Amino acid sequence: MESDLEGFRNETRLWISENFPSSLAGLTASYNPAEATERHRSHDYQQWVSLMAAKGWGAPAWPTAYGGGGLNSDQVEILQQELARAGAFNPIVGLGNMMLGPTLLEFGTEEQKLRHLPPMARGEIRWCQGFSEPGSGSDLASLQTRCEDHGDHWLVNGQKIWTSFANISDWCFCLVRTNTSSKQGGISFLLIDMRTPGVEARPIELINGVTHFCEVFLEDVKVPKSETVGEVNGGWTVAKRLMQHERNGLSESRRATLDLLPLALEQVGLDEQGRLADPDLRFRLVDHLVTGTAFEAAMRAQLEAKERGLPGAISNSSLKNIGARVAQERYDLAVEILGSHALGWLPSNNDSEEQEIVSEWLYSRAFSIYGGSHEIQNNITAKQVLQLPS
Ligand SMILES: Cc1cc2nc3c(=O)[nH]c(=O)nc-3n(C[C@H](O)[C@H](O)[C@H](O)COP(=O)(O)OP(=O)(O)OC[C@H]3O[C@@H](n4cnc5c(N)ncnc54)[C@H](O)[C@@H]3O)c2cc1C
Repeated sequence: MESDLEGFRNETRLWISENFPSSLAGLTASYNPAEATERHRSHDYQQWVSLMAAKGWGAPAWPTAYGGGGLNSDQVEILQQELARAGAFNPIVGLGNMMLGPTLLEFGTEEQKLRHLPPMARGEIRWCQGFSEPGSGSDLASLQTRCEDHGDHWLVNGQKIWTSFANISDWCFCLVRTNTSSKQGGISFLLIDMRTPGVEARPIELINGVTHFCEVFLEDVKVPKSETVGEVNGGWTVAKRLMQHERNGLSESRRATLDLLPLALEQVGLDEQGRLADPDLRFRLVDHLVTGTAFEAAMRAQLEAKERGLPGAISNSSLKNIGARVAQERYDLAVEILGSHALGWLPSNNDSEEQEIVSEWLYSRAFSIYGGSHEIQNNITAKQVLQLPS
């Protein structure tokens, strides 16, 4: 007899085969319009977004009441496997789905959940994260953006930096200072509509030519009190949970999307015994693939533990660091394999696969910085897991 999970797999496979537009096969979701290709702008892409949103599969693990798919972790894994098997993908991605959604599920009021989660799950609203400030990155709790109580609303003044996608976002989840006498205990968590007068996002250009993050200036920005998540002065608790989701999401996104083997076979070829012709590269490639497989298994174990309400065997901070290292190594190897084909630098209109890989390789330097740097994650593991003295 067919188990529930097998049944779910069969239904999912059938639904994907009937609905996923073949013109999108092999594509991945694009969050940044600057990097969108013609296929991302196509009618088929929009249709795929609508179909996935209607199933609640933009946020497959969220309750259906808030626009999610109501799936358990086994079903989510099956959905991911079946999408990958068909060369398909979840087109509804973004910082809202990855970080804010799960945080609102835990800390938001019913009214906030009903208002903000369904459009997020349908991919209609873009969110950005206003945490870092000039002078407050790793030591985030030292943030200075002033937030004053004006009766029915807050008045916010300050500056944020490295705010990814702020220039194209509709809303921002933001940390502000509501009390100056306590460091962590004086922070509140606000949801700010980016169209509010006084909000200005100025883009910053990155090394790979893409402008994906911004400085955000907040000048006399009025924010309704109903957009406070959690307690006033209790924002640090909300932020810490959000950063856990961020690390989880970043580890998840580090799962392999670039297949190195076909690339190596094509570029390096085989020796007379049918093995990859370069023995040194062969050794390092196998080493990388084994580490990558172990990382995938650890991610899977972590998801299962989370589903059962158990602490994971490995901290989110360690997973974030391992995921970043594996992904950086993957792009280092890809660029090495491409050799002189990897000389393209800035993006151009006729981007080749080689140039895309170089661009990703350049961007991969950021993996061990954003979401809390490598050193800070090690500090968290040392303190919270190994109980070492600070
Ligand atoms: C691509 C990218 C996107 C980003 N997107 C966003 C975003 O959307 N929203 C947002 O709010 N922020 C964002 N950030 C900012 C990111 O969170 C910060 O860059 C990060 O937290 C580090 O802060 P910092 O850059 O101020 O470095 P600093 O805190 O100045 O650190 C500099 C160096 O010192 C080390 N260091 C600092 N303190 C310690 C310590 N106590 N022990 C050991 N080493 C230490 C750090 O590891 C780092 O190597 C983004 C960053 C990048 C690169």
